[in-house]
Amino acid sequence: MKRVIRGHHLLCIHGFKGMGYSPTFVDEMSEIVKDFKSNREDIEIEVRASFDDACFACPHKGETKCEKSKDSNQHVLSLDHRVMNHLDIKAGEIYNKDEIISLTVEKVSPHDLDILCDGCSWLSFGVCKEGIQDLKEKIQ
Ligand code: SF4
Repeated sequence: MKRVIRGHHLLCIHGFKGMGYSPTFVDEMSEIVKDFKSNREDIEIEVRASFDDACFACPHKGETKCEKSKDSNQHVLSLDHRVMNHLDIKAGEIYNKDEIISLTVEKVSPHDLDILCDGCSWLSFGVCKEGIQDLKEKIQ
């Protein structure tokens, strides 16, 4: 199966604790997280810097851009590019789910989120850093 995930959501997945923008969005994120945590080896991830599976379930999705706030589209795009650059992956390319997880474990530390996720409203909850730490302890 194939999932379409935008750059910055590749990190959100690991800290997701059921918070989100609407029940539909939370349900979709829960399914994405379940896929990432599964033992299935056939899950492919198409990386994007644009709407992804989570955005299509989000109440803030506009016609062509994120409309959470006046500056949100520019903000989420900059997060996407920061995360893709850090993981050394490219929008439009397809990666195996386990390859993305390995790159995350190898290249991302919890304190990196202060830069990679700068400006994200969820960062201050601390769950995203915890999620990255838990992933590294589980995989390394
Ligand atoms: S807030 Fe914007 S970037 Fe985030 S999931 Fe919703 S539409 Fe996508």
